[in-house]
Amino acid sequence: MNSTETIKTEILAIGCAMLDKGLVAGTWGNISARIPETSFVAITPSGRGYRELTANDVVVVDLTGKVMEGNLKPSSELPLHLAIYRARPDIQGIVHTHSVFASACAVARKIIPPIIEDLVQLVGGGVEVADYALPGTETLAKNIVVALGERNAVLMANHGVVGCGQSLVEGMMACELVEKAAQIYIYANQIGGAQLLSKEDVAIMHEFYVDYYRKRQQGSEN
Ligand SMILES: [Zn+2]
Repeated sequence: MNSTETIKTEILAIGCAMLDKGLVAGTWGNISARIPETSFVAITPSGRGYRELTANDVVVVDLTGKVMEGNLKPSSELPLHLAIYRARPDIQGIVHTHSVFASACAVARKIIPPIIEDLVQLVGGGVEVADYALPGTETLAKNIVVALGERNAVLMANHGVVGCGQSLVEGMMACELVEKAAQIYIYANQIGGAQLLSKEDVAIMHEFYVDYYRKRQQGSEN
Protein backbone atom coordinates (compact mmCIF):
# COMPACT_ATOMS: atom_id res chain seq x y z
CA MET A 1 0.00 0.00 0.00
CA ASN A 2 1.46 3.43 -0.89
CA SER A 3 1.29 6.33 1.57
CA THR A 4 -1.88 7.77 -0.02
CA GLU A 5 -3.68 4.44 0.37
CA THR A 6 -2.42 4.08 3.95
CA ILE A 7 -3.71 7.53 4.89
CA LYS A 8 -7.07 6.89 3.21
CA THR A 9 -7.44 3.61 5.13
CA GLU A 10 -6.58 5.39 8.40
CA ILE A 11 -9.25 8.02 7.66
CA LEU A 12 -11.88 5.30 7.15
CA ALA A 13 -10.93 3.70 10.49
CA ILE A 14 -11.11 7.03 12.36
CA GLY A 15 -14.53 7.71 10.78
CA CYS A 16 -15.93 4.46 12.19
CA ALA A 17 -14.25 5.13 15.55
CA MET A 18 -15.93 8.58 15.76
CA LEU A 19 -19.32 6.88 15.35
CA ASP A 20 -18.48 4.01 17.74
CA LYS A 21 -17.36 6.45 20.44
CA GLY A 22 -20.45 8.64 20.02
CA LEU A 23 -18.44 11.72 19.03
CA VAL A 24 -20.64 12.39 15.97
CA ALA A 25 -23.97 11.20 14.59
CA GLY A 26 -24.75 10.38 10.97
CA THR A 27 -22.48 12.00 8.43
CA TRP A 28 -21.47 14.98 10.57
CA GLY A 29 -17.87 15.69 11.47
CA ASN A 30 -14.91 15.33 9.12
CA ILE A 31 -11.37 14.01 9.03
CA SER A 32 -8.24 14.90 7.09
CA ALA A 33 -4.54 14.11 7.02
CA ARG A 34 -1.47 15.22 5.13
CA ILE A 35 -0.12 12.66 2.70
CA PRO A 36 3.55 12.18 3.68
CA GLU A 37 6.19 13.52 1.30
CA THR A 38 3.62 15.42 -0.77
CA SER A 39 1.91 18.80 -0.39
CA PHE A 40 -1.50 17.10 -0.59
CA VAL A 41 -4.19 16.44 1.98
CA ALA A 42 -6.70 13.57 2.07
CA ILE A 43 -10.15 14.48 3.43
CA THR A 44 -13.52 12.80 3.93
CA PRO A 45 -16.16 13.55 1.27
CA SER A 46 -19.20 15.68 2.00
CA GLY A 47 -22.35 14.00 3.33
CA ARG A 48 -21.36 10.33 3.10
CA GLY A 49 -21.87 7.72 5.84
CA TYR A 50 -18.57 6.72 7.44
CA ARG A 51 -19.39 3.01 7.52
CA GLU A 52 -20.14 2.96 3.78
CA LEU A 53 -17.02 4.88 2.73
CA THR A 54 -14.32 3.18 0.68
CA ALA A 55 -10.76 4.40 0.15
CA ASN A 56 -11.74 5.64 -3.33
CA ASP A 57 -14.32 7.98 -1.78
CA VAL A 58 -11.67 9.88 0.20
CA VAL A 59 -10.77 13.06 -1.71
CA VAL A 60 -7.20 14.30 -2.23
CA VAL A 61 -6.71 18.07 -2.52
CA ASP A 62 -3.77 20.46 -2.63
CA LEU A 63 -3.34 23.21 -0.02
CA THR A 64 -5.45 25.60 -2.11
CA GLY A 65 -8.35 23.12 -2.14
CA LYS A 66 -7.97 21.97 -5.74
CA VAL A 67 -9.16 18.37 -6.10
CA MET A 68 -6.28 16.15 -7.23
CA GLU A 69 -7.94 12.75 -6.81
CA GLY A 70 -11.48 11.44 -6.20
CA ASN A 71 -14.93 11.93 -7.72
CA LEU A 72 -16.79 13.20 -4.67
CA LYS A 73 -17.04 16.68 -3.21
CA PRO A 74 -14.64 17.26 -0.29
CA SER A 75 -16.10 17.98 3.18
CA SER A 76 -17.78 21.39 3.47
CA GLU A 77 -15.28 22.18 6.27
CA LEU A 78 -12.34 21.90 3.86
CA PRO A 79 -11.46 25.61 4.42
CA LEU A 80 -10.82 25.07 8.13
CA HIS A 81 -8.68 21.97 7.55
CA LEU A 82 -6.57 23.78 4.94
CA ALA A 83 -6.24 26.91 7.10
CA ILE A 84 -4.83 24.81 9.95
CA TYR A 85 -2.36 22.98 7.67
CA ARG A 86 -1.18 26.30 6.23
CA ALA A 87 -0.73 27.86 9.69
CA ARG A 88 0.76 24.81 11.43
CA PRO A 89 3.42 22.85 9.55
CA ASP A 90 3.63 20.46 12.54
CA ILE A 91 0.03 19.24 12.14
CA GLN A 92 -0.40 15.98 10.20
CA GLY A 93 -4.00 15.03 11.03
CA ILE A 94 -7.23 16.89 11.90
CA VAL A 95 -10.48 15.47 13.31
CA HIS A 96 -13.67 17.50 13.75
CA THR A 97 -16.40 16.14 16.05
CA HIS A 98 -19.74 17.23 17.57
CA SER A 99 -19.48 15.50 20.98
CA VAL A 100 -22.02 16.38 23.68
CA PHE A 101 -20.11 17.79 26.67
CA ALA A 102 -17.58 19.66 24.55
CA SER A 103 -20.44 21.11 22.50
CA ALA A 104 -22.16 22.17 25.76
CA CYS A 105 -19.07 24.27 26.57
CA ALA A 106 -18.99 25.53 22.96
CA VAL A 107 -22.66 26.56 23.16
CA ALA A 108 -22.10 28.32 26.50
CA ARG A 109 -18.92 29.75 24.90
CA LYS A 110 -16.91 28.73 27.96
CA ILE A 111 -13.30 27.72 27.57
CA ILE A 112 -12.24 24.43 29.15
CA PRO A 113 -9.42 25.52 31.46
CA PRO A 114 -6.31 23.42 32.13
CA ILE A 115 -7.77 21.06 34.73
CA ILE A 116 -6.57 17.54 34.02
CA GLU A 117 -3.29 15.81 33.20
CA ASP A 118 -4.05 14.00 29.92
CA LEU A 119 -5.72 17.04 28.35
CA VAL A 120 -2.86 19.44 29.06
CA GLN A 121 -0.24 16.88 28.06
CA LEU A 122 -1.61 16.34 24.57
CA VAL A 123 -3.41 19.62 23.90
CA GLY A 124 -0.77 21.81 25.54
CA GLY A 125 -3.13 23.75 27.83
CA GLY A 126 -6.81 24.57 28.13
CA VAL A 127 -9.18 24.67 25.18
CA GLU A 128 -10.18 28.09 23.82
CA VAL A 129 -13.47 28.87 22.06
CA ALA A 130 -13.13 30.19 18.49
CA ASP A 131 -15.46 33.10 17.65
CA TYR A 132 -18.71 32.06 16.01
CA ALA A 133 -19.05 31.95 12.24
CA LEU A 134 -21.24 29.90 9.90
CA PRO A 135 -20.02 26.35 9.18
CA GLY A 136 -17.86 25.93 6.10
CA THR A 137 -16.87 29.61 5.82
CA GLU A 138 -13.43 31.17 5.48
CA THR A 139 -14.31 33.34 8.51
CA LEU A 140 -14.79 30.22 10.63
CA ALA A 141 -11.46 28.86 9.36
CA LYS A 142 -9.71 32.12 10.29
CA ASN A 143 -11.32 32.23 13.75
CA ILE A 144 -10.25 28.64 14.43
CA VAL A 145 -6.63 29.23 13.50
CA VAL A 146 -6.50 32.25 15.85
CA ALA A 147 -8.08 30.41 18.80
CA LEU A 148 -6.09 27.21 18.21
CA GLY A 149 -2.72 28.99 18.43
CA GLU A 150 0.02 26.47 19.12
CA ARG A 151 -2.27 24.02 20.92
CA ASN A 152 -3.85 20.84 19.54
CA ALA A 153 -7.56 21.41 20.12
CA VAL A 154 -10.13 24.17 20.01
CA LEU A 155 -13.89 24.56 20.55
CA MET A 156 -16.02 26.10 17.79
CA ALA A 157 -18.74 28.35 19.25
CA ASN A 158 -22.20 26.71 18.98
CA HIS A 159 -20.74 23.89 16.93
CA GLY A 160 -18.16 21.37 18.18
CA VAL A 161 -14.50 20.45 18.48
CA VAL A 162 -11.41 20.45 16.29
CA GLY A 163 -8.59 18.16 17.44
CA CYS A 164 -5.28 17.92 15.64
CA GLY A 165 -1.85 16.42 16.07
CA GLN A 166 1.25 14.87 14.60
CA SER A 167 -0.85 11.92 13.41
CA LEU A 168 -4.50 11.15 12.78
CA VAL A 169 -4.55 9.03 15.93
CA GLU A 170 -3.32 12.03 17.93
CA GLY A 171 -5.99 14.29 16.37
CA MET A 172 -8.65 11.76 17.35
CA MET A 173 -7.20 11.45 20.84
CA ALA A 174 -7.35 15.26 21.19
CA CYS A 175 -11.10 15.16 20.42
CA GLU A 176 -11.65 12.38 22.96
CA LEU A 177 -9.65 14.17 25.66
CA VAL A 178 -11.52 17.45 25.06
CA GLU A 179 -14.82 15.59 25.45
CA LYS A 180 -13.64 13.91 28.64
CA ALA A 181 -12.28 17.17 30.09
CA ALA A 182 -15.51 19.01 29.22
CA GLN A 183 -17.54 16.40 31.08
CA ILE A 184 -15.23 16.57 34.11
CA TYR A 185 -15.33 20.39 34.05
CA ILE A 186 -19.13 20.50 33.96
CA TYR A 187 -19.41 17.94 36.79
CA ALA A 188 -16.75 19.70 38.88
CA ASN A 189 -18.67 22.94 38.55
CA GLN A 190 -21.69 21.19 40.10
CA ILE A 191 -19.74 20.19 43.24
CA GLY A 192 -17.99 23.42 44.07
CA GLY A 193 -15.95 24.35 41.02
CA ALA A 194 -12.82 23.20 39.21
CA GLN A 195 -9.37 24.04 40.56
CA LEU A 196 -6.96 24.87 37.76
CA LEU A 197 -3.48 23.49 37.17
CA SER A 198 -0.72 26.09 37.35
CA LYS A 199 0.88 27.42 34.14
CA GLU A 200 4.21 25.98 35.26
CA ASP A 201 2.81 22.48 35.80
CA VAL A 202 0.95 22.60 32.48
CA ALA A 203 4.24 23.42 30.74
CA ILE A 204 6.07 20.57 32.53
CA MET A 205 3.35 18.05 31.67
CA HIS A 206 3.14 19.12 28.01
CA GLU A 207 6.94 18.97 27.66
CA PHE A 208 6.93 15.48 29.15
CA TYR A 209 4.37 14.43 26.53
CA VAL A 210 6.29 15.99 23.63
CA ASP A 211 9.74 14.78 24.72
CA TYR A 212 8.90 11.34 25.98
CA TYR A 213 5.32 10.06 26.03
CA ARG A 214 4.44 10.84 22.41
CA LYS A 215 7.57 9.00 21.26
CA ARG A 216 6.68 6.04 23.46
CA GLN A 217 3.17 5.91 21.95
CA GLN A 218 4.64 6.05 18.45
CA GLY A 219 7.10 3.28 19.35
CA SER A 220 10.11 5.46 18.52
CA GLU A 221 11.45 5.90 22.04
CA ASN A 222 15.16 5.32 22.38
ZN1 LIG B 1 -19.26 20.36 12.25
